[in-house]
Amino acid sequence: MAIITTMILPLQKGVLYGPINSRRLGKSLGINIMPFHYKLCSFNCVYCHYGLTDVLTLTMTKHLRDLPKSTEVLDDVERAMRSNNTFDYITFSGNGEPTLHPYFGDIVRGVMEVRNKYRAGVKIALLSNSTGLKFEEVRKVLTLIDLPVFKLDAGNSTLFKKINRPAIDVNFDEIVTMLRQVEGIYIQTVIMDGNPSNVGEDALDTYFERLAVIKPVEAHIYSLDRPVPNTNIKKVFPERLEEIAKHGLEKIGITIRPFYLQ
Ligand code: SF4
Repeated sequence: MAIITTMILPLQKGVLYGPINSRRLGKSLGINIMPFHYKLCSFNCVYCHYGLTDVLTLTMTKHLRDLPKSTEVLDDVERAMRSNNTFDYITFSGNGEPTLHPYFGDIVRGVMEVRNKYRAGVKIALLSNSTGLKFEEVRKVLTLIDLPVFKLDAGNSTLFKKINRPAIDVNFDEIVTMLRQVEGIYIQTVIMDGNPSNVGEDALDTYFERLAVIKPVEAHIYSLDRPVPNTNIKKVFPERLEEIAKHGLEKIGITIRPFYLQ
């Protein structure tokens, strides 16, 4: 186990960022549809590389004026698609939870049209914390996304609250139910030791049980390769990630793919 630095990454200052070299996606151009000057999320994860959540909420009504408009997002994406910049994925992520944007559905449809027009080979990915699945409009556009990835870091509500520190109206069982009801999704999980830890036998058993119920295409596990704000959590090394993946496959028959820096 290694002690983690407390330095965190700066927020994204606009809609597009990167392309960055991603462990899973190759060259990925990020799309940030959350505010540019503060972090707005329905979670306040202990490991978030952007630091603490400034506005912890599931409800956007008080923050609409701080969100980029659909036209601004699509103009920027079109400019990137027409540029000489190369990238394999265009990925919804950024300064918080992208599916909380009230026009997320329209934006996804627009990005898909621009992509089809200029660069049919570029794939669209979503990195989500799963809470936006409660919105019908989000569920409707999932089939347009090539790689829809949803977060699940714990197998029970107690550990979920310690790791993800959600907004008051977020419910763990409801998230698992929503994840069960959508098809063709990927789960991503940050594995950590220390306090809190999701690497013990009991924590992993309940996590595998939830995965077996959700039935994702695959689960992607990784640990703390980026700066985190909480010094009580510790990185889990690649050998252990490989063991967890193997054990999970044997136990529930779902492919669990570990990602780590070589
Ligand atoms: S869900 Fe993502 S953006 Fe939100 S606090 Fe967690 S890691 Fe950070």
